[in-house]
Amino acid sequence: MLRLLCVTAHPDDEAGAFGGTLLLYHERGVETSVVCLTAGTAARNRGSARTDDELAALRRAEFAASCKFLNVSHYEVLDFADSRLDRTDFYQAVGTLTRRMRQIRPHVVLTFGMDGGLTGHVDHAMAGMFATVAFEWAGRPDRFPEPIEQGLQPHRAQKLYYMTADFVLPDRQPIAPPTVTARIEIGKERFEKKGEAFRLHTTQKPLFERVKKNLGQGLGTVEMYHLVARRDPGEDQVENDLFEGVVED
Ligand SMILES: [Zn+2]
Repeated sequence: MLRLLCVTAHPDDEAGAFGGTLLLYHERGVETSVVCLTAGTAARNRGSARTDDELAALRRAEFAASCKFLNVSHYEVLDFADSRLDRTDFYQAVGTLTRRMRQIRPHVVLTFGMDGGLTGHVDHAMAGMFATVAFEWAGRPDRFPEPIEQGLQPHRAQKLYYMTADFVLPDRQPIAPPTVTARIEIGKERFEKKGEAFRLHTTQKPLFERVKKNLGQGLGTVEMYHLVARRDPGEDQVENDLFEGVVED
């Protein structure tokens, strides 16, 4: 079975940034997983939550509902501090993701680029940085050897992608997005479902209109990616399938 792992920063990223792709590849028989680094407690929109703990519980439940709706097989919210991923211990974050990669054993990994995705969020950039290093190190027996001694085997995923776009959002900090090397047509139906998944994050309701506008006008029914690295070296070509050239192993 082919497997896809998506590494995000906040509950709702899985829907807003990767939702159509997650739906599409599940339909094609790929097992999908999402690992989210924070519970999103720095959010300005807090629903009925009075404390960070209450907000974390709400957002974890919304994340679970959204992942179920997107047919994600394995999903998890880790405990790193929201809005502080740039001050998180690098070795600990990469170690945690390296272990997940050796457990889940994905063929393809999706995450954010160093621009922080469309919104330029610093947490997105950091999630992408940790995931990028983990993508490389999960396959090296000399990095984080302890889990290997405990029975986990090294794992080399075949492709790593950053989500990107061929436009930038106005009224945001300046970003330099990774080039578009893959365009995934998700179709109108999946585009609608992705919006529905996002709206399951009810604490974030005040964002719904803005996100709808951003996604609808800029991306429409296409999700764009940049191929960052591949296990089997090769030349760039524009793709319309993230599993192009991927073999089951
Ligand atoms: Zn986010």
